Amino acid sequence: MTMEKLRNFIKEQNDFKSSDLKSEFVGEENLEAKGVNVILLHDGINEIKQAHNQVVYAVFDQTPFYAEKGGQINDRGTIQWAGGSGIIIDVQPTSEGINIHEIEIQGELKVGDKVDAKVDKIKRLLTMKNHTATHLTTAAAYEVLGPSLDHTTSFNDEHGMRKDFAYHRAVTQQELAKIQSLTLKSIHDAIAREIHFTTPDEAINKYHALSFDGDKFDEDTLVRIIRFGNFSCELCAGTHVPNTKDLEDYVITNLESKGNGRFRIKALTSYETVKNHYDNLLDEQNKKLGSLIAKYNGMKNENCNKNIDHAINEIQLIEHNRENIHLFQTQLDELSELLRILEKEVAKKNEANIFQEIKDLKPQLNADGINEIKFEKDNLNITVLRSIGEEFKKNYADLIVILKSQSEEGNFIYVTISESLKGKASAVEILRNQKDIVAKGGGNELAAQGKYEVIK
Ligand SMILES: [Zn+2]
Repeated sequence: MTMEKLRNFIKEQNDFKSSDLKSEFVGEENLEAKGVNVILLHDGINEIKQAHNQVVYAVFDQTPFYAEKGGQINDRGTIQWAGGSGIIIDVQPTSEGINIHEIEIQGELKVGDKVDAKVDKIKRLLTMKNHTATHLTTAAAYEVLGPSLDHTTSFNDEHGMRKDFAYHRAVTQQELAKIQSLTLKSIHDAIAREIHFTTPDEAINKYHALSFDGDKFDEDTLVRIIRFGNFSCELCAGTHVPNTKDLEDYVITNLESKGNGRFRIKALTSYETVKNHYDNLLDEQNKKLGSLIAKYNGMKNENCNKNIDHAINEIQLIEHNRENIHLFQTQLDELSELLRILEKEVAKKNEANIFQEIKDLKPQLNADGINEIKFEKDNLNITVLRSIGEEFKKNYADLIVILKSQSEEGNFIYVTISESLKGKASAVEILRNQKDIVAKGGGNELAAQGKYEVIK
């Protein structure tokens, strides 16, 4: 039975018992609760009175475990009682606010038992940091992008946060950087969390709280708002760190377009997590720079390029740290583009030279007494090999041409034969039967191409 069916089951129970089933969340500050009562057990098919070494669904009169809602992941943790212990796998709420726990138990658990409940503290704390980060990101995004920004959903767990929103145009890198620095500033400002229960009217008009998901509220019911000074205020049922400074650090890792004017921001918090993110990025950039320089050094002797020399000098002058990560990337992209242009020029030059080089090559008779030309040179792509083949065939009749080239992109082979040899030789057969190499590829009688490995 799914959680959804269980929710309906509990709804029916509640109707039947006229709402005497209560399940109070007490885990806002206390991550442990002792002696909570087991008031309902369910095995997924039927309501049961006792469970033994199995997965069971349970309702407690009080619980420190947060049920997944408002974009915040559920808690996990453990329970213990005189007759055994259990691991909390999932916690889901019903629309009436009953918290259903999915638990894997060892031992025997009965309705009426008293259990001690313990939340996984690390998971919860990280999740709280990321939930607070979601609110701060939202406030910063409003400030940068203005009121036409439309927020949709969010999700936060121990690994990070994401916020989906709709906007009438693409968000620029500068705007994203501004959202990040405003959020970071709010963390450095060490703003204390406030929790208020207030009327919907006061929430909107006095606190200017943001409300999402198109919530409709009954004027008489109190709503819960989470406020961080004048920076952020939202209607929210979730758990948050006591102070923005508890987030420690923050980085936006991704802005993704989901199409139809919808976007997703992903971000991380905590010193260590953010440091790891930056360390990985810096490392990747370093490796990229290293490979670009190595590539250039390989071509440099014959193709020295002042712009590239300059670009490499410039990039090596940048202090390579998190503050300069975007500047470094921009310079890296420029260097990469300059190299791409140079490589194209070199390829063109090589192609011109190659026809000069092959001008005097003459066919030799092979073992079958047929004219054959074999030619091999590094750094030629398959297009160049093909035009060399055509060139030879133009100049000599009844000819087999076998061309090979080794390059960074792989080792290419191209075989072609004169139309007049049809029936006597086959290009694809020749390609597959080359000595000292293993060639993979395809083609027909007249022409075949592929890649090969040299047999060592
Ligand atoms: Zn929230």
